[in-house]
Amino acid sequence: MSVSSSVKALRGQIVSLRGNPFLHPSAECLTHHPDGLVIIADGHITAAGPWETTAPLLPAGVTPVHYPDHLIMPGFIDTHVHYPQIQMIGAYGEQLLEWLNTYTFVTEQQFANRAHADRIAKIFLRELLRAGTTTAVVYCTVHPQSVEAFFAESARLNTRMIAGKVLMDRNAPAPLLDTAQRGYDESAALIARWHGQGRQLYCVTPRFAPTSTEAQLDAAGALLRDHPGVYLQTHLCENKGEIEWVRELFPERRSYLDVYDHAGLVGPRSVFGHAIHMHEGDFCTCHARGAALAFCPTSNLFLGSGLFPLDAATDPARPVRVGLGTDVGGGTSLSQLQSLNEAYKVVALSGGRLDAVRAFWLATLGGAEALYLDDRLGKVAPGYEADLVVIDPKATPFMAFRSDYCTSLEEQLFTLMTMGDDRAVRATWVAGECVHDRDAA
Ligand SMILES: [Zn+2]
Repeated sequence: MSVSSSVKALRGQIVSLRGNPFLHPSAECLTHHPDGLVIIADGHITAAGPWETTAPLLPAGVTPVHYPDHLIMPGFIDTHVHYPQIQMIGAYGEQLLEWLNTYTFVTEQQFANRAHADRIAKIFLRELLRAGTTTAVVYCTVHPQSVEAFFAESARLNTRMIAGKVLMDRNAPAPLLDTAQRGYDESAALIARWHGQGRQLYCVTPRFAPTSTEAQLDAAGALLRDHPGVYLQTHLCENKGEIEWVRELFPERRSYLDVYDHAGLVGPRSVFGHAIHMHEGDFCTCHARGAALAFCPTSNLFLGSGLFPLDAATDPARPVRVGLGTDVGGGTSLSQLQSLNEAYKVVALSGGRLDAVRAFWLATLGGAEALYLDDRLGKVAPGYEADLVVIDPKATPFMAFRSDYCTSLEEQLFTLMTMGDDRAVRATWVAGECVHDRDAA
């Protein structure tokens, strides 16, 4: 293979965040090259900038893929999603605890079957890439084979994914239960096999406090201590009935977050889903420990869970890392454009305002920062991994019509998050390879 054959290039509008718009003026945080060029070699971006100054860096013989008027952005990051639940998305009529018993625990039992897990993992990752999402933090099921199936497909696609085996040793149907020891052993074996293998990263995954005994939460803490660098994900303060149940199960703890903190689960690379009904002390703890929250607006509205207090979470006095999650199947779309559509409404109902620059920060560089991957993901910049989404602002006749009336990039981005979904994803690139081309025959 010649040197230049591994070099790829994309030409179009480059739109990328370079700073945190919750801490700095939006205008200082956005990079925009109306006619830009991205050069990629060996899966990494080697150059990105205006066409005139970047084109001379193109190796001889490399012809850029041209996406005129399209937006080349960092691939979206989904910080909270359940791949086994795609077959039950849009399940009718329940709030969290009834929804788990009626739909989730029934569906997840099917993942004892490796062939079923293989099939669903393939469909999930295909749909994620069609939505322009290139990295996600993913719950599998209690079955180790569900994790094997997921990482095998992610490794085949070379996507950077973070995932883990669910830990549950009580308050769920018997076929979905492990024990504290078995959960530890199975997780440790999966870590040895997958964490740091290519682009795959492991996440210790107790579902939530009510389905784990204190012994199992302690075992999860031991997994983090014994394997530095792995992630932790769980659910936190999603639903008022759930919070009351946690209070009954753990009467000696100060708060729901304190249950996890007591087990050593609150630190860097910990990602807590939802965190809707939080106290100021909880936010202070998350800030001090460097833990992250996953804001899942379509799920929070669909399950009637409540409104995530984004402005309180990101208070510059003690900012907490916040990423955006779809939480499918509680969420209603794998598209982060649709998550942002609902995020805007959640903030509006709370009396605030989510502008487009802050919104796209949450879906890209903010998500990367929440995951401590902002040195390699979330920007269109030299040295970064070449995970890119190419957005078509004129994806439908109505979007094309509306786009003609946009007078600024911010307005274009805002209408994209209002009207856009997977139809607006013209192409998705992973580690420098085009893995989804909407217009391919
Ligand atoms: Zn969830």
